[in-house]
Amino acid sequence: KESTDINAFVNEYLRISYHGLRAKDKTFTATVVTDYDDEVGKAEIIPQDLGRVLVNLLNNAYYAVQTKQKKEGQAYEPLITVSTHRLSDAFEIRVKDNGTGISKEAMNRVFQPFFTTKPTGQGTGLGLSLSHDIVTKGHGGKLYFETAEGQYTEFIIQVPVAHVDD
Ligand code: ADP
Ligand code: MG
Repeated sequence: KESTDINAFVNEYLRISYHGLRAKDKTFTATVVTDYDDEVGKAEIIPQDLGRVLVNLLNNAYYAVQTKQKKEGQAYEPLITVSTHRLSDAFEIRVKDNGTGISKEAMNRVFQPFFTTKPTGQGTGLGLSLSHDIVTKGHGGKLYFETAEGQYTEFIIQVPVAHVDD
């Protein structure tokens, strides 16, 4: 683990993933809003691993808004919000999108390995299962979500900070 400035880390992965997506699909645009809590500061994380979690959550969010845009057209405005929050003994990173949402049937399966609703070749169904392991086993944290079908999905990474003294 490395002591890491969480807001800078989140912002770096956000930039990388957005540029990567734009490079593949020049037509992709989404409003991305960031809301970083200054109180989050530094924390001990495994940056490469938590970075993979972030990239996966962001890619899922981009996909969900793209899918909704194909259905609803120009009137729909894709919006992704990435925020950080300092809690008393943990920090949170939240990735929220106003895309397709997750159906009731899919809700309790999204963390299962190989579960995907994407067409063949577009998803392995491994992203969330791997992400769940990284957050829980690798960082002693929690990864969970809130969603409403057709409206939004928000994934929350919560990682405990061993000692808060400042
Ligand atoms: P993959 O992206 O390869 O499908 P994941 O494990 O990352 O695999 O996600 C599993 C499934 O969870 C997705 O296929 C999709 O049905 C659902 N899902 C994940 N994130 C979102 C999201 N932000 N909005 C809607 N559905 C999502
Ligand atoms: Mg994925």
